[in-house]
Amino acid sequence: MRIPINDLKRHHAPLATELAAAVNRVLSSGWYILGPEVEAFEQEFARYCGVEHCAGVGNGTDALELALRAVGVGPGAEVATVANAGMYGTTAILRVGAAPLYVDVDDRSMTMSPAALGAAIPAGPRGHPAAVIVTHLYGRMAEIEELLAIAGQKNIPVIEDCAQAHGAERAGRKAGSWGTLGCFSFYPTKNLGAAGDGGAVVTADATLAAKIRALRQYGWTSKYRATVAGGRNSRLDEMQAAVLRTKLPHLDGWNARRREIARLYHGALAGSEVILPEPRDDSVTHLYVIRSPHRERIRIALAAAGIGTDVHYPVPDHRQESVQRIAFRRTPLPVTEASAAEVLTLPCFPEMTDTEVREIAHAVNAEM
Ligand SMILES: *Cc1c(COP(=O)(O)O)cnc(C)c1O
Repeated sequence: MRIPINDLKRHHAPLATELAAAVNRVLSSGWYILGPEVEAFEQEFARYCGVEHCAGVGNGTDALELALRAVGVGPGAEVATVANAGMYGTTAILRVGAAPLYVDVDDRSMTMSPAALGAAIPAGPRGHPAAVIVTHLYGRMAEIEELLAIAGQKNIPVIEDCAQAHGAERAGRKAGSWGTLGCFSFYPTKNLGAAGDGGAVVTADATLAAKIRALRQYGWTSKYRATVAGGRNSRLDEMQAAVLRTKLPHLDGWNARRREIARLYHGALAGSEVILPEPRDDSVTHLYVIRSPHRERIRIALAAAGIGTDVHYPVPDHRQESVQRIAFRRTPLPVTEASAAEVLTLPCFPEMTDTEVREIAHAVNAEM
């Protein structure tokens, strides 16, 4: 592809010397797992998110799993979540032995609909979900205030999935600092990506933070003393922490450029019939996702022009083959179902040029 959907070589090239130095620092230290680099990154990232605590873990899906365990979700419980966010939440829910309760997303934001969550939580003393996972999809903050208010009426913990929203903020508060716990992935293509797998859980709650630290390492509260049940091995390594520390100071600049690209697209695609995401200050535009009933036609035309695209995500969680075999509940999901057939992701990464953005918009317009 002449213009790929993402280009991590372009992303890393300007930092090559710094990154090599960071990796060499770790190699020569002789300490490779949960050491001084991880501790320093945890402090730096907690400060960045505006929370007290951060615990590095193996990846974003593990972050969600350990967060669910930390708030006591286990077999027999239900967790409210969306079905349009790529199976990550569902995977974590199933790993702890709980079942997903799918609720629909809002047609504009593509994030959990507060009305749908309200309808999914029964009034009165009847049983309700043990937790809610709120995904800030495509980099845009969900309607977090309303969702927290609804869950709060029943004291249901809210876990934010911030894997696409590093640095997104509203009212001066960052994604991850609103809910009971915030979960991050540092998969290489994320807004803040490692050179491999990585993840983190952030929280203002010291007890929950201690629980995550125990759960990520066999349930240990001190060496060889496994006191917390449900522990496993999911740790952030020193090399990835050193890479992330090198990149964190650049995150805000990269996010600003992503927003700028979204605004460029918005202007250039304004006349077309595709549905565009609103350019928003509370989005870090992890993905630029348009909607059209003619998605496949546009994809083929763009591919022929050497432009990479992707679909996030083609099959909603409740329609996945592996999920079909388990018991789960769902509320009506009309927006989730309709959007899965229409969403189309255009290239959006900080190193793209304005010319590339215009060329892609031109190719889309020519097809509409
Ligand atoms: C990438 C992603 C995850 C999972 O992260 P991994 O590190 O790949 O496990 C979770 N949630 C969302 C919304 C993601 O985009």
